Amino acid sequence: MRGGYNVPVAGAPLCEVRELPAPDRLYLPLVSRRFRFSDVRVGEGQRVARGELLAVDPERFSIPLLAPCGGTVRLGELEGHVVLDDLDASSDPWAPSGSTSDEPGADPGGGPAAGPAGESVAHGLLALGAWPYLSDARTGDPVDPAKSPSAIIASTLRLEPFLAGGEAQLDGALERLARGLEYLRGLAPEAPLYVIIPDTDEPLAAEIRTAAAGCSGAHVVSVPMRFPFDDPALLARYLKLPSGPDTTAWAIPAEGVLAVEAALTHGRPCTDRVVSFAGPAVTEPVHFRLVPGYPIEAILADRLCREPARVVNGGLLTGVALPPEQHGIDSECTGLTVVGELTRQTLLSFARPGISRRSYSRSFVGTLRTDMSMRYKAGLSGEVRPCIACGQCVDVCPAGILPQLIHRHLYAGRLEEAQRMRVDLCVGCVLCSFVCPSKIDLRTELLEAKRELREEAEAVRAEAEAAAAEAAEAAAAKARADEAEAASTEGKPAPPEDATAAEAAP
Ligand code: SF4
Ligand code: SF4
Repeated sequence: MRGGYNVPVAGAPLCEVRELPAPDRLYLPLVSRRFRFSDVRVGEGQRVARGELLAVDPERFSIPLLAPCGGTVRLGELEGHVVLDDLDASSDPWAPSGSTSDEPGADPGGGPAAGPAGESVAHGLLALGAWPYLSDARTGDPVDPAKSPSAIIASTLRLEPFLAGGEAQLDGALERLARGLEYLRGLAPEAPLYVIIPDTDEPLAAEIRTAAAGCSGAHVVSVPMRFPFDDPALLARYLKLPSGPDTTAWAIPAEGVLAVEAALTHGRPCTDRVVSFAGPAVTEPVHFRLVPGYPIEAILADRLCREPARVVNGGLLTGVALPPEQHGIDSECTGLTVVGELTRQTLLSFARPGISRRSYSRSFVGTLRTDMSMRYKAGLSGEVRPCIACGQCVDVCPAGILPQLIHRHLYAGRLEEAQRMRVDLCVGCVLCSFVCPSKIDLRTELLEAKRELREEAEAVRAEAEAAAAEAAEAAAAKARADEAEAASTEGKPAPPEDATAAEAAP
């Protein structure tokens, strides 16, 4: 592994996971990063129980949106959301769906308690909301429950600033992790299982290693704690897994392994997740255990130290600004990162060296203060300028490509040249944009080029499939015509054109 960089940014949360009080209502967005829950399966005023189906994504294997707790459905109150009100006031509707008990079958309503295998189990995970944690290691797309993977990568790392990784998710849950890994083995017995752990001397890392090593047939792989070495596409390359249109390696994070364990041990729906709430504009950065739909306003209230602030859905580097119309946590949210908006620009701030400023290059004296974390703001601190060929983007790029040369080709509209330079290997980690002193948004350019190339490839594939189908149809028609001609030559009645014609014949 090469490149990578840990961005020194202030506002990291503590490892502990806290609970928030139950809200009055939940606002479940029908759109998340990968899913569009356009097929709503509930009606206005309908009473639903925890784990009941609210909507599915018909385009992506019918991935479900589940009710995180019991309540009454309100449709049309808030565009793009299913609202739940009159929430169940049962003893503890916010109890984690993954039982804290380490005993299999502790839940009286329990599901399968043994390591299962096969497609039916995959569909069980789909129905219980644990399936979306699995993704295609190379593309990040959801995976088909009807297909088997070539390998499974289970990662206990999450290295993007602020997001909750194994250190927050796995403390006290190592037996559950081991059981979840066994279930994954059972799900695809032929596929090798790689368990990614941090290459550190921390006691928890050693415990994770022991728990993972206890899983029969699992290969434990240590990875340096440098962003973005936890990226599944990089890991798939590092592990030299085969790639191709019909070869899929699955990737799953630690919380996904715990969700699989909870679903298959206790038959419980996966309706909660750990969401980091952090960043330089947050008074007390922390991880919260939340359910989808939790009101964002209630999370932000009295917890910001800078305003105006920009709320980012996800981590500091790869998250996207939260749209103002989104009112609740979506079903894939991993964190809310809050940075102050840049309201006042210091003259030549991008170029002024200083003891309190950090930069990837050695252009600021602050680089000498290794203990210092920057309070980054949502501003560029300078305008976009031409590339000065400093090579810093190449230095940090973990994909081993040359972002500045690809940028030149893309700037000139030479998409094929960009592909020759393997733009497809970009994993979108954003480090190149982050370190670029010319403020060039390399990552957006490269990802856009990747998208265009993928669409082109899909169009070519669809055209080839249509041509093949047309050729097959033409060959079949010719075979029928030849048969008819042969029959008429021999004086036999010609075969009917089709079944309807045969029935209509006297
Ligand atoms: S080119 Fe892609 S993989 Fe390389 S640093 Fe930039 S965003 Fe990351
Ligand atoms: S970091 Fe920016 S300025 Fe430096 S080589 Fe890369 S694109 Fe050019």
